[in-house]
Amino acid sequence: MHDPRGREIDYLRISVTDRCNLRCFYCMPSEGVKPILHKEILTYEEITRIVRIAAPIGIRKVRLTGGEPLARKNIAFLVASLKSIDGIENLSLTTNGVLLERYAEELVSAGLDRVNVSLDSLRPDRYREITRGGSLEQVLRGIEKAHEAGLRPVRINMVPIRGYNDDEIEEFARITLQKPYQIRFIEFMPAGSGELWSPEKYVPVDEIKSIVGRIGRLTPVKLRRSGPARYFRFDGAPGVVGFINAVSHKFCRECNRLRLTADGKLRPCLFAETEIDLKTPMRSGVPDREIERLIRLSIEVKPEEHNIGCRDGAPFPKLRPMSKIGG
Ligand code: SAM
Ligand code: SF4
Repeated sequence: MHDPRGREIDYLRISVTDRCNLRCFYCMPSEGVKPILHKEILTYEEITRIVRIAAPIGIRKVRLTGGEPLARKNIAFLVASLKSIDGIENLSLTTNGVLLERYAEELVSAGLDRVNVSLDSLRPDRYREITRGGSLEQVLRGIEKAHEAGLRPVRINMVPIRGYNDDEIEEFARITLQKPYQIRFIEFMPAGSGELWSPEKYVPVDEIKSIVGRIGRLTPVKLRRSGPARYFRFDGAPGVVGFINAVSHKFCRECNRLRLTADGKLRPCLFAETEIDLKTPMRSGVPDREIERLIRLSIEVKPEEHNIGCRDGAPFPKLRPMSKIGG
């Protein structure tokens, strides 16, 4: 289905939980955020029903996210249920990688196609500090295992934050010289409590790209389903580097997605507060056609573009923490 601006909406990101086994300092406070009550979280049956109704409307791609999706019990069961829905062509998952070594094979057997691993430092001490306790070793083993298990491509997402990890941008990009991974740099966004974000900490994509460009010549590559990222390859490299300028240059014109929160709200835009509640009507017993109407409505009201900006000094709205939207 196309929205009123002609964008084809074929991608649904589903946050399956707002809980997490890490506490990345830029995403969650150390004490965590007040969790959504268990009974308010969509069940796997409810999520599957929504995707079954959304597929004929045009949803082809589904990504599971969180919180930490691998921290939800028996996530492979959900993967298998979604994979069996006609029309779902690509099923992926975004994870911090902590439990990936343990679950990679089971996820592949259940039908998972791809994985994105979030990793913001390659130095064990710094990684532990950023995530407030995570083990880099464990995540690196998870990444290897994901590749061995056949998840393609393995993608690593890094958020450079000035003064914290921006000195590692080059090291991350160099991974693509050795490994067939996609290394993607994502601009730091003013989400969460908003206290951490500041124009000084934010590193724009243009700057990240010029740092990466010091390594060697970058040739643009056109990848299928590249979404808002722009990809490049160093001569002869097995992997590619990607850049997502979520803040500095809006990618809204190419936005093809809807988001479903763990408590059953459909969000047409990451940065807008508009949410359409699917859980309450579902639990009150409405038929599929009513859920379909609500999904179509959320596509119809998808905003033209987000309203955050940093070039003209426009104020940043305080957003729900990413752990509650799904990143
Ligand atoms: N726990 C999983 C993970 O870390 O991959 C999935 C959920 S997490 C909220 C999804 C993504 O959001 C992560 O890649 C994380 O780096 C990103 N994220 C969280 N807060 C962010 C922020 N303020 N700016 C940019 N990305 C952010
Ligand atoms: Fe957890 Fe992911 Fe947020 Fe880190 S970025 S605290 S891993 S939800």
